Amino acid sequence: MSTQVQALVVGAGVSGLATAYALQKARVNTLVVEAAARPGGMIRSVQRDGYLLECGPQSFSGNSSITSICTDLGLLDERLLADPRAPRFVLINGALQEVPMNPLMLLASPLLRGGTKRAILRDLVGRSQAPEHDESVASFIRRKYSDMLLDRLVGPFVSGIYAGDPEKLSLRAAFPILHEAEIASGSILRGIFPAIKSRAAKRPKGPKGPRERPTLQTFSEGNEMLIKALVLNLGEHLRCGVEVTGIELLDSGHDAKAPRFQVALRNQQGEDTVEAERLVLAVPTNVAGKLLSTLDERFEQQLGGIEYAGVAVVSLGYQKKDVSHSLEGFGFLVPRSSGLNDLGTVWNSSLFPGRAPEGQALMTSFVGGATNPGALQRSEAELAETTHEEIAPLLGISKDPVFSNVTIWPRALPQYNLGHTARLAALEQLCNNFSGLYFAGNYLNGPAIGTCVEQAMKVADEIRVSFAN
Ligand SMILES: Cc1cc2nc3c(=O)[nH]c(=O)nc-3n(C[C@H](O)[C@H](O)[C@H](O)COP(=O)(O)OP(=O)(O)OC[C@H]3O[C@@H](n4cnc5c(N)ncnc54)[C@H](O)[C@@H]3O)c2cc1C
Repeated sequence: MSTQVQALVVGAGVSGLATAYALQKARVNTLVVEAAARPGGMIRSVQRDGYLLECGPQSFSGNSSITSICTDLGLLDERLLADPRAPRFVLINGALQEVPMNPLMLLASPLLRGGTKRAILRDLVGRSQAPEHDESVASFIRRKYSDMLLDRLVGPFVSGIYAGDPEKLSLRAAFPILHEAEIASGSILRGIFPAIKSRAAKRPKGPKGPRERPTLQTFSEGNEMLIKALVLNLGEHLRCGVEVTGIELLDSGHDAKAPRFQVALRNQQGEDTVEAERLVLAVPTNVAGKLLSTLDERFEQQLGGIEYAGVAVVSLGYQKKDVSHSLEGFGFLVPRSSGLNDLGTVWNSSLFPGRAPEGQALMTSFVGGATNPGALQRSEAELAETTHEEIAPLLGISKDPVFSNVTIWPRALPQYNLGHTARLAALEQLCNNFSGLYFAGNYLNGPAIGTCVEQAMKVADEIRVSFAN
């Protein structure tokens, strides 16, 4: 006989774990199943040879949902906050130059020429109209500002978040605040703060005090501390090494509390089924699309059409005495016009304590992305070597690394490309035909860990309310 649960969550990345945690907290009997042997999905912290490195995300921006979970799980004291004033750099003409952090610094910066600066002032005093059609990030920046701003600052910034291609990314899907600012005020500079405020007002508020500043953070033992704390809290409600292989609808009539889904599972021991009243898919889109194609093949068309960018995460350790750059700051981003494979490099041991042994420095570079998928064809050893060769002249590194670790993510980040907003609207409509079905994940509201957790809280709350009604 099948196990019966109120809610089944498929996938134990941060999205699935946070959903399950919030459901259990709301007294909804929940089971999470994870295909891999270990939970956490892309969040993986490794301690080796005195280094503490991250194989996926290096840190995350705080928000009230994350703070609320950290408070509940007793993690607040383990949290490490990066210095918000740490400078960021960008590679221009072979040298690292500081990125201006506000519009005034931007106007004074030698990074941009007169034409771009005049365009910024025009935006401040003038009015522009957003086109009706879905506009790419690149076309928006060219329309409002210049190619130079796109190449030197916006392109690298887009790489830093989505590893994406600005020619393909949709402005309204990837950076909705900019789109909303222009619609509301005809100006990015005048409209951005009201747009941020209006979005923030719609976000779930943490129960403990005022809204958090989005400071970059991690934990004393790495990002995975959050995963471990969630896993400990879930206990036997999480099963790893269990892959979902199929989903069928059950005839539940109009009974809100009858199982609606029969879910087929496979593990090392064999096959099994679970019956669930609510089903949350917290898996990548290709998996969700395939699993749901038996319910309606349009799920696969919508979900399967979301592209992903592959990224290699290359962590290198050096003796500090062999690096002439001070490494004071966050790290640097690299414009695509530089011709380098490196999209950007984070100076981990400058941002957080305990990342490298005494006298050594840890830095992590991201290679590949939507504009350079071929880079991932190289072996791990080649990726480490070419990354060292690219960053050594920029940072004055005179010797080979004393430590290296490479992780390749062939499907690292979902791309919020042109058509993404329409695709999500179609998905929502389809989902409305299947009462009890929910989605959580990084292709919905933004790829950041904080937005994944916010989305998880929202889904858990919708499910809680559905049981209360
Ligand atoms: C290289 C890299 C750098 C990043 N940098 C940052 C950063 O600096 N800051 C930030 O905030 N975010 C960053 N991110 C993004 C962030 O890490 C992810 O968006 C987030 O971790 C995704 O979590 P998730 O739970 O939605 O998905 P995932 O972590 O992909 O989890 C999905 C889970 O579903 C499981 N699964 C798949 N199929 C099945 C099945 N059939 N049955 C059961 N389980 C299944 C998978 O094994 C996986 O564990 C980065 C991501 C990458 C890859």
